[in-house]
Amino acid sequence: MKSLGKALWNALWQLLAPPVCAACDEPLHQPNVLLCADCAALCEPCPAQTMPLVPGAPHCLSRFAYGGPVQTALLRLKWQGRDDLARPLGLLLRPILLEMLQTFEADWLVPIPLHPQRLRERGYNQAMLLARAAMPTQPSSLTLHAGLLSATRPTAAAHRQRRIERIQRVESRFVVPRRAQAHITQRKIILIDDVITTGATVTACAEALRQAGARDVQALSLLRVV
Ligand SMILES: [Zn+2]
Repeated sequence: MKSLGKALWNALWQLLAPPVCAACDEPLHQPNVLLCADCAALCEPCPAQTMPLVPGAPHCLSRFAYGGPVQTALLRLKWQGRDDLARPLGLLLRPILLEMLQTFEADWLVPIPLHPQRLRERGYNQAMLLARAAMPTQPSSLTLHAGLLSATRPTAAAHRQRRIERIQRVESRFVVPRRAQAHITQRKIILIDDVITTGATVTACAEALRQAGARDVQALSLLRVV
Protein backbone atom coordinates (compact mmCIF):
# COMPACT_ATOMS: atom_id res chain seq x y z
CA MET A 1 0.00 0.00 0.00
CA LYS A 2 2.84 2.29 0.91
CA SER A 3 4.57 1.70 -2.42
CA LEU A 4 1.28 2.18 -4.34
CA GLY A 5 0.81 5.57 -2.69
CA LYS A 6 4.38 6.48 -3.51
CA ALA A 7 3.92 5.35 -7.14
CA LEU A 8 0.73 7.38 -7.52
CA TRP A 9 2.39 10.44 -6.04
CA ASN A 10 5.35 10.07 -8.38
CA ALA A 11 3.08 9.65 -11.41
CA LEU A 12 1.13 12.77 -10.47
CA TRP A 13 4.30 14.74 -9.81
CA GLN A 14 5.75 13.77 -13.19
CA LEU A 15 2.57 14.92 -14.96
CA LEU A 16 2.52 18.30 -13.27
CA ALA A 17 6.18 19.14 -12.85
CA PRO A 18 8.37 20.47 -15.67
CA PRO A 19 11.17 18.09 -16.71
CA VAL A 20 14.33 18.45 -14.65
CA CYS A 21 17.77 16.85 -14.66
CA ALA A 22 17.69 13.42 -12.96
CA ALA A 23 20.82 14.26 -10.95
CA CYS A 24 20.81 18.00 -10.10
CA ASP A 25 17.14 18.98 -10.63
CA GLU A 26 17.97 21.91 -12.91
CA PRO A 27 15.27 22.50 -15.57
CA LEU A 28 15.89 20.64 -18.82
CA HIS A 29 15.80 22.56 -22.06
CA GLN A 30 15.66 19.48 -24.30
CA PRO A 31 12.89 16.88 -24.28
CA ASN A 32 13.53 13.20 -23.52
CA VAL A 33 16.95 13.54 -21.94
CA LEU A 34 18.05 12.22 -18.55
CA LEU A 35 20.66 14.78 -17.56
CA CYS A 36 21.38 18.48 -18.11
CA ALA A 37 24.40 19.37 -20.26
CA ASP A 38 26.58 20.08 -17.19
CA CYS A 39 25.83 16.69 -15.61
CA ALA A 40 26.15 14.84 -18.93
CA ALA A 41 29.64 16.32 -19.29
CA LEU A 42 30.63 14.80 -15.92
CA CYS A 43 29.79 11.20 -16.91
CA GLU A 44 32.92 9.09 -17.13
CA PRO A 45 32.88 6.08 -19.45
CA CYS A 46 33.96 2.86 -17.75
CA PRO A 47 37.70 2.50 -18.52
CA ALA A 48 38.83 -0.66 -20.27
CA GLN A 49 41.33 -1.44 -17.51
CA THR A 50 39.35 -1.81 -14.33
CA MET A 51 39.81 -3.58 -11.01
CA PRO A 52 39.85 -7.33 -11.48
CA LEU A 53 36.62 -9.13 -10.71
CA VAL A 54 36.28 -12.23 -8.53
CA PRO A 55 37.63 -15.52 -9.98
CA GLY A 56 35.27 -17.16 -12.45
CA ALA A 57 33.55 -13.88 -13.34
CA PRO A 58 31.92 -13.81 -16.77
CA HIS A 59 33.09 -11.38 -19.45
CA CYS A 60 31.57 -8.01 -18.42
CA LEU A 61 30.90 -4.70 -20.13
CA SER A 62 29.86 -1.59 -18.19
CA ARG A 63 28.82 1.80 -19.55
CA PHE A 64 30.06 4.21 -16.86
CA ALA A 65 32.45 4.30 -13.92
CA TYR A 66 30.61 4.28 -10.60
CA GLY A 67 29.94 7.78 -9.25
CA GLY A 68 28.75 11.04 -10.75
CA PRO A 69 25.34 12.01 -12.07
CA VAL A 70 24.37 8.58 -13.42
CA GLN A 71 24.92 7.09 -9.96
CA THR A 72 22.74 9.85 -8.46
CA ALA A 73 19.97 9.06 -10.94
CA LEU A 74 20.33 5.32 -10.28
CA LEU A 75 20.11 5.79 -6.50
CA ARG A 76 16.91 7.78 -7.04
CA LEU A 77 15.51 4.90 -9.12
CA LYS A 78 16.45 2.32 -6.47
CA TRP A 79 15.76 4.10 -3.21
CA GLN A 80 13.40 6.99 -3.94
CA GLY A 81 10.77 5.23 -6.03
CA ARG A 82 11.78 7.09 -9.22
CA ASP A 83 10.84 4.31 -11.66
CA ASP A 84 10.34 7.01 -14.32
CA LEU A 85 14.16 7.10 -14.54
CA ALA A 86 14.42 3.42 -15.53
CA ARG A 87 13.73 3.99 -19.21
CA PRO A 88 16.27 6.78 -19.85
CA LEU A 89 18.85 4.91 -17.73
CA GLY A 90 18.14 1.65 -19.55
CA LEU A 91 18.56 3.36 -22.92
CA LEU A 92 22.13 4.20 -21.86
CA LEU A 93 22.78 0.45 -21.73
CA ARG A 94 21.62 -0.24 -25.26
CA PRO A 95 24.90 0.73 -27.02
CA ILE A 96 26.96 -1.74 -24.96
CA LEU A 97 24.30 -4.42 -25.36
CA LEU A 98 24.51 -3.99 -29.15
CA GLU A 99 28.32 -4.07 -28.90
CA MET A 100 28.20 -7.35 -26.95
CA LEU A 101 25.72 -8.89 -29.40
CA GLN A 102 28.15 -8.34 -32.28
CA THR A 103 30.45 -11.06 -30.94
CA PHE A 104 28.06 -12.94 -28.65
CA GLU A 105 24.79 -13.90 -30.28
CA ALA A 106 22.80 -14.46 -27.10
CA ASP A 107 19.40 -16.10 -26.74
CA TRP A 108 18.32 -14.58 -23.44
CA LEU A 109 18.75 -11.25 -21.67
CA VAL A 110 18.33 -12.01 -17.97
CA PRO A 111 18.02 -9.31 -15.30
CA ILE A 112 19.64 -10.12 -11.95
CA PRO A 113 16.64 -11.09 -9.81
CA LEU A 114 15.65 -9.41 -6.57
CA HIS A 115 14.60 -11.45 -3.58
CA PRO A 116 10.76 -11.33 -3.28
CA GLN A 117 11.04 -9.45 0.02
CA ARG A 118 13.09 -6.65 -1.57
CA LEU A 119 10.79 -6.71 -4.61
CA ARG A 120 7.79 -6.10 -2.33
CA GLU A 121 9.57 -3.23 -0.59
CA ARG A 122 10.69 -1.52 -3.81
CA GLY A 123 7.70 -2.40 -5.97
CA TYR A 124 9.90 -3.24 -8.97
CA ASN A 125 13.19 -4.84 -9.94
CA GLN A 126 15.35 -2.03 -11.31
CA ALA A 127 17.46 -4.49 -13.34
CA MET A 128 14.28 -5.74 -15.05
CA LEU A 129 13.22 -2.20 -15.94
CA LEU A 130 16.69 -1.36 -17.25
CA ALA A 131 16.74 -4.55 -19.33
CA ARG A 132 13.35 -3.76 -20.86
CA ALA A 133 14.53 -0.31 -21.95
CA ALA A 134 17.87 -1.61 -23.21
CA MET A 135 16.38 -4.27 -25.53
CA PRO A 136 17.27 -3.70 -29.20
CA THR A 137 14.47 -2.31 -31.34
CA GLN A 138 15.72 -4.20 -34.42
CA PRO A 139 14.86 -7.90 -34.64
CA SER A 140 17.58 -10.03 -33.07
CA SER A 141 18.10 -13.44 -31.51
CA LEU A 142 17.73 -11.91 -28.07
CA THR A 143 14.65 -12.29 -25.84
CA LEU A 144 14.17 -10.77 -22.40
CA HIS A 145 13.50 -13.53 -19.86
CA ALA A 146 13.09 -12.74 -16.18
CA GLY A 147 12.16 -16.26 -15.07
CA LEU A 148 15.47 -18.10 -15.49
CA LEU A 149 16.91 -17.20 -12.08
CA SER A 150 15.51 -16.58 -8.64
CA ALA A 151 17.10 -15.12 -5.52
CA THR A 152 16.84 -17.44 -2.55
CA ARG A 153 17.66 -15.05 0.25
CA PRO A 154 17.73 -11.33 0.74
CA THR A 155 20.89 -9.39 1.45
CA ALA A 156 21.49 -6.00 2.96
CA ALA A 157 21.99 -3.25 0.42
CA ALA A 158 25.40 -3.64 -1.19
CA HIS A 159 26.57 -0.23 -0.04
CA ARG A 160 26.01 -1.26 3.58
CA GLN A 161 28.26 -4.32 3.31
CA ARG A 162 31.98 -4.67 3.33
CA ARG A 163 33.57 -6.05 0.17
CA ILE A 164 34.55 -9.42 1.67
CA GLU A 165 31.14 -9.94 3.29
CA ARG A 166 29.51 -9.21 -0.02
CA ILE A 167 31.62 -11.82 -1.80
CA GLN A 168 30.75 -14.45 0.82
CA ARG A 169 27.07 -13.63 1.06
CA VAL A 170 26.20 -13.99 -2.62
CA GLU A 171 27.39 -17.61 -2.70
CA SER A 172 24.50 -19.82 -3.83
CA ARG A 173 22.07 -16.94 -3.41
CA PHE A 174 20.72 -17.63 -6.90
CA VAL A 175 19.06 -20.73 -8.29
CA VAL A 176 17.53 -21.79 -11.58
CA PRO A 177 13.87 -22.73 -10.99
CA ARG A 178 13.09 -26.28 -12.08
CA ARG A 179 10.57 -25.09 -14.69
CA ALA A 180 13.27 -22.88 -16.29
CA GLN A 181 15.91 -25.58 -16.80
CA ALA A 182 14.70 -26.66 -20.24
CA HIS A 183 15.16 -23.09 -21.49
CA ILE A 184 18.81 -22.93 -20.47
CA THR A 185 20.46 -25.99 -21.98
CA GLN A 186 23.01 -24.92 -24.61
CA ARG A 187 21.75 -21.33 -24.56
CA LYS A 188 23.84 -18.17 -24.53
CA ILE A 189 22.83 -15.70 -21.87
CA ILE A 190 23.55 -12.04 -21.11
CA LEU A 191 23.02 -11.00 -17.50
CA ILE A 192 22.11 -7.39 -16.83
CA ASP A 193 22.52 -5.49 -13.57
CA ASP A 194 22.61 -1.87 -12.50
CA VAL A 195 26.01 -1.97 -10.78
CA ILE A 196 28.96 -4.38 -10.85
CA THR A 197 31.18 -3.99 -7.79
CA THR A 198 33.30 -7.09 -7.15
CA GLY A 199 31.49 -9.13 -9.79
CA ALA A 200 30.36 -11.58 -7.10
CA THR A 201 26.67 -11.28 -7.95
CA VAL A 202 27.02 -11.78 -11.71
CA THR A 203 29.50 -14.61 -11.05
CA ALA A 204 27.06 -16.42 -8.73
CA CYS A 205 24.30 -16.01 -11.32
CA ALA A 206 26.55 -17.18 -14.17
CA GLU A 207 27.59 -20.20 -12.11
CA ALA A 208 23.97 -21.20 -11.48
CA LEU A 209 23.17 -20.86 -15.17
CA ARG A 210 26.27 -22.80 -16.26
CA GLN A 211 25.44 -25.61 -13.84
CA ALA A 212 21.96 -25.72 -15.40
CA GLY A 213 23.59 -26.25 -18.82
CA ALA A 214 24.02 -22.76 -20.26
CA ARG A 215 26.57 -22.71 -23.08
CA ASP A 216 28.06 -19.34 -22.16
CA VAL A 217 27.21 -16.34 -20.01
CA GLN A 218 28.33 -12.72 -20.25
CA ALA A 219 27.23 -9.68 -18.25
CA LEU A 220 26.39 -6.00 -18.66
CA SER A 221 25.96 -3.20 -16.16
CA LEU A 222 25.18 0.47 -16.20
CA LEU A 223 27.91 1.29 -13.65
CA ARG A 224 31.04 -0.42 -12.51
CA VAL A 225 33.14 0.34 -9.46
CA VAL A 226 36.65 0.98 -10.78
ZN1 LIG B 1 22.16 18.20 -13.99
